[in-house]
Amino acid sequence: MIIMKFGGTSVGSADRIRNTCNIIKSNLKRKPIIVVSAVAKITDGLIRLAKECSTDHAAETLKLIGETHDKIIGELRLDRRLLEQDFRDLRQLADETLKNRNNDEKTMDHFQSFGEQMSSKIVAAQLSKIGVKAKSFDSWELGFLTDSEFGNAEPLDVAYASLKGKIKKLSVVPVVTGFIGKTEEGEITTLGRGGSDFSAAVIGAAIDAEEIQIWTDVDGMMSTDPKIVPRARTLYAVSFAEASELAYFGAKVLHPKTILPAMKKNIPVRVLNSFNPKGKGTTIVNKAVKSKETVKAIACKNNTTLISVDSSRMLGSHGFMARIFYIFDKFRKSIDVISTSEVSVSLTLDDDEDIDDIVKELREFSSVEISKNKSIVCVVGEGMRHMTGLAGRTFTAMGKNNINIEMISQGASEINITFIVDSKDAAKAVQVLHREYFGD
Ligand code: ADP
Ligand code: ASP
Ligand code: MG
Repeated sequence: MIIMKFGGTSVGSADRIRNTCNIIKSNLKRKPIIVVSAVAKITDGLIRLAKECSTDHAAETLKLIGETHDKIIGELRLDRRLLEQDFRDLRQLADETLKNRNNDEKTMDHFQSFGEQMSSKIVAAQLSKIGVKAKSFDSWELGFLTDSEFGNAEPLDVAYASLKGKIKKLSVVPVVTGFIGKTEEGEITTLGRGGSDFSAAVIGAAIDAEEIQIWTDVDGMMSTDPKIVPRARTLYAVSFAEASELAYFGAKVLHPKTILPAMKKNIPVRVLNSFNPKGKGTTIVNKAVKSKETVKAIACKNNTTLISVDSSRMLGSHGFMARIFYIFDKFRKSIDVISTSEVSVSLTLDDDEDIDDIVKELREFSSVEISKNKSIVCVVGEGMRHMTGLAGRTFTAMGKNNINIEMISQGASEINITFIVDSKDAAKAVQVLHREYFGD
């Protein structure tokens, strides 16, 4: 069995869905389990809708979401009634939200869940039309249970056995909603933006899949984001550790949580291009992959806030770090990059919520500086473990191009060098490093 996950652009129009279904049909021998994202841009629309419920724009957004799906259904000549119930339910949710003026995280997740619920029905219907016995499933119908961390839910341990039991019994090709799950109490959750990759990996791990395929709109994992460097190269193979660092530090092609379930079960992950299905893509595997290049790729993550905490008063006394981490833990914040000295700590967060309260508590024992609009740049490669001089080369390239570096960190695994720059310099930093390490 294999998992085939198709992202938003791969189901973004009637043509793309036709193409995706043909790719699935040509892989039936491998017993595929299909996981789909919402139609491209629909999740953004649903979030807008949830936030706009009390304004005139809501009707417009609702109409747009309806029209996008209707157009696809019309062009594919599928039954016009396919999504009638979903549209009715979505309209009702919008009305209720307006009435109750309540768009908390739980409601936001409920809104967002419609995208995958609708796309999975369309893909299953198109597959049936071309002669593939297929059926759409909301992930929870197959046992995808999560905790109740709305907006960032994690699958429960019991989900794995449940998914396995239910999927093994199926005699159709299941088209499963990515990105969403349900709590044991029956409330809909989402796994965080881009989370369908994670869904695919969880389902893959649950059924001990032979391979987890992530079908997207580029040829694989590349030496950097091709939107920043159009000549970026496709990487033939990368290790779980490299892929994990790249995904974590901004390579959007893979959701950062995708790697762990695959790694635990040692299931290869392949990133493939639905626009170029004959391409080899990138294979992500357990072991370090030999390559000529020491540096494999460069990632970049925007919208980062840098927090510098300084407490000279605590010089020589213990407990400084513990106090800091206690506060971040209390506000359930995950720190991306950190760099420390005896009395100061610099760290970054990718979300600003609660930042004022956090700073207030930190100021009780230290001085704090906040800088917004920062970006993380990360240079990754297994070969860096044994190589000297790479930090020098990286930072000299930055210096020569007048790019100011605000903080530096290197993980214990020594397969990355990570640093923070002003967001206005981020694209340039990536371009300069790509030229430095790949020659273009
Ligand atoms: P999908 O909708 O299929 O999930 P995403 O938009 O989430 O696709 O991810 C694919 C995009 O990731 C690409 O179009 C590309 O711009 C971006 N990307 C960022 N870094 C990389 C990288 N290192 N390799 C490939 N793509 C990358
Ligand atoms: N549809 C969701 C999003 O746009 C999940 C995904 O595409 O992976 O974030
Ligand atoms: Mg994605």
